[in-house]
Amino acid sequence: MTRRTIRTIILLATISIAGLVLTQLFWMDKAFELREREFDDNVTAALREVGLQIKDINKDSSEVAPVRKLSRNYFVVATSDTLHPYLLESLLENEFRTRNILTDFEYNIYDCFTDSLVFDGFVALSGQEYERPTEVEIPRSDSDSHYFGVYFPDKQNYLSGQMGLWLLSSGILLMVFAFFAYTLAVIVKQKRLSEIKSDFINNMTHEFKTPISTISASSDLLMSGAVEADAAKRQRYYRMIHDESDRLRLQVEKVLQMAQFDRSEIDLNLVDADLHQLIRKATASVQILLDERKGSIGLELNATDPISSVDELHFSNIIRNLLDNAIKYCKHEPRIVISTGNIRQGIAIRVSDNGIGIPTKLQREIFGKFYRVPTGNVHNVKGFGLGLFYVKSLVKAHGGTIVVESGDNGSTFVVWLPTSRK
Ligand code: ADP
Repeated sequence: MTRRTIRTIILLATISIAGLVLTQLFWMDKAFELREREFDDNVTAALREVGLQIKDINKDSSEVAPVRKLSRNYFVVATSDTLHPYLLESLLENEFRTRNILTDFEYNIYDCFTDSLVFDGFVALSGQEYERPTEVEIPRSDSDSHYFGVYFPDKQNYLSGQMGLWLLSSGILLMVFAFFAYTLAVIVKQKRLSEIKSDFINNMTHEFKTPISTISASSDLLMSGAVEADAAKRQRYYRMIHDESDRLRLQVEKVLQMAQFDRSEIDLNLVDADLHQLIRKATASVQILLDERKGSIGLELNATDPISSVDELHFSNIIRNLLDNAIKYCKHEPRIVISTGNIRQGIAIRVSDNGIGIPTKLQREIFGKFYRVPTGNVHNVKGFGLGLFYVKSLVKAHGGTIVVESGDNGSTFVVWLPTSRK
């Protein structure tokens, strides 16, 4: 699958998910509206029935006044006389129960002679403990006759509670999204892994091919006896074989070390060492490489306390890797500066170069295993993308940190290690 296909799939999937969510929300809203209308009709019919019963009791033969909805939760019915609250309560409760309107309600009775709402009672029909919501705004009817009103404080929740099927389907939809997102994440991860794998194989082939062909050409030449007479030439070919097999060994070691890191087996042979001395040694070991590129290294070893508890071999490899990179990723003559200083009860080692730099957004990635800054598949600089992973793992194992600062004019890697406290 190409990157473009994955991107298209993600885009289409996001659009369809957004479409599904919107449709679900739309239908849920419609369903709620429908339920509310049903509830209102039911309440209106119940209140009308209560109005009729009151008229019957009062032997009043006039028409029942229409039920009026004054707000979303409040309904009023005009009556021709004042009412006894308990009578009203029992009529209302009875009627609501018969019609299965099982949500809490408050009722009040308006007395037009005194112009006041004379009784405020409530009934917990839901069977749950009732708590009167504070700051309830119950509108006043503009009617100038007696009336009673019924207020449903919990109407919205009651209706939502009846939308169980919708909530279930939304839950299922959410689960489908979660699975879908997970699947996409796995696809993207697999894709990255397969890219890394093929990059690694490409790089490895490349890294191993060159020394192997040099060794094989040199040994062919030596075996053919063509340089039998020339001792200096012979010596050169022996050295070539030696150097190239050394390089191969280093590469193989790097790969093997990764397997060890994966199993978290970093064995450190810690000794109190003078880091300045180790830095000088590591610098000397890249001198030949530097000479080939007409480069130079400046040392500004200013730390007053350069003693740290490190594994000497691993520490030298950390510096060696940083120096190798500083030389490799430089288009002109490498100018490298290594400086040290004591900060935060430790020693900071800064390796600065005048190389090609690392784009800001990739600076976090470069420490990842097999990660190489994409160079458009041009293998002008060889590597496995393991060097900085190795460096970071080891710095961490030593209880230290590593950060990179990089711009167009070069990069600086800052390694901080704790100094030995006596
Ligand atoms: P490798 O050098 O084998 O590719 P590393 O893990 O050492 O792997 O480095 C990862 C990537 O970080 C490199 O591919 C390179 O793009 C970038 N990089 C590392 N060091 C430098 C540097 N000093 N200057 C510019 N880029 C660097």
